[in-house]
Amino acid sequence: RQSPVEIRSEEAQHDPALPPWFASYDPGAAKSILNNGRTCRVVFDDTFDRSVLRGGPVQGAYRLRQLHFHWGSSDDHGSEHIIDGVKHAAELHMVHWNPKHGNFAGALKQRDGVAVVGIFLQVGNTPKPELKRILEEIDTVKTKGKEAPFHHFDPSILFPKSRDYWTYEGSFTTPPCEECITWILLREPIVVSPDQMAKLRSLSMNAENEPFCPLVDNWRPPQPLKGRVLRASFK
Ligand SMILES: [Zn+2]
Repeated sequence: RQSPVEIRSEEAQHDPALPPWFASYDPGAAKSILNNGRTCRVVFDDTFDRSVLRGGPVQGAYRLRQLHFHWGSSDDHGSEHIIDGVKHAAELHMVHWNPKHGNFAGALKQRDGVAVVGIFLQVGNTPKPELKRILEEIDTVKTKGKEAPFHHFDPSILFPKSRDYWTYEGSFTTPPCEECITWILLREPIVVSPDQMAKLRSLSMNAENEPFCPLVDNWRPPQPLKGRVLRASFK
C-alpha cells in the first residue's frame, strides 16, 4: 500500500456511504514553520484534541500534527498524486494521527494510524490569498535547519470550496514510507500564482554555510496500486 498513486477518475468507485469530513482547527495550535532540507513544514501542538479531523473515511478524531508541501522545478509537475495524467505544480499535505494509538510514533505502526488531507496547487491568475501567510515566512526559513515561530494560524483557510474527495489506503511518501495512511485527496485544486510558486522554489536544501542547492522536485513518483480500490465521495 505505497503512495502516491495515479488516479484514473473513471476507475474510482463512487461510494455513497462515504460520509463528509470535517476539520475543526484551533488557530492557537500553530507553533512554528521550518525547513528540514526536504520540505517546508508548519508544526502544530498535538498534545491534546485541539485541532482535529473527523468523518470521511476515518473513525474518531485525528489530531493535526503538521502540514507540508511537495513541488516541482517548473509549473508542469510537482504534485505526488497524478489525476487522469495531470501533474499539478504542488501538493499540500495536512498530516493527522489517531490518538487511540497513544502517540505519533505508535500511530505510524498502525493501519489506521494517520489521515492525510491532500490538496493540489494549480498555477493561475486568481491565487488563493490565504497562502500568503505561509509564503511570506519562507524568507525566514530559507536554508535547511531554520525554524521560526508561526502563531495564530487556522489551516482550514487553505481548503478549497468543495469537500469532494478520493480516498485510498496508502503510505508516507518519504522513507521509511510507513503504510499507515488513509488518504483524503481533495478533487478541487487551490490556485497559486507563478510568484508564489517561485517563492517555494527559492527554498534551499543546503544549510546556511553550504553551497546553494535549490529545494525543488521533492515528490515521489507514483507507486503500483496492486489491487487497491480508490473510492470517490462524489459521482
Ligand atoms: Zn507529503
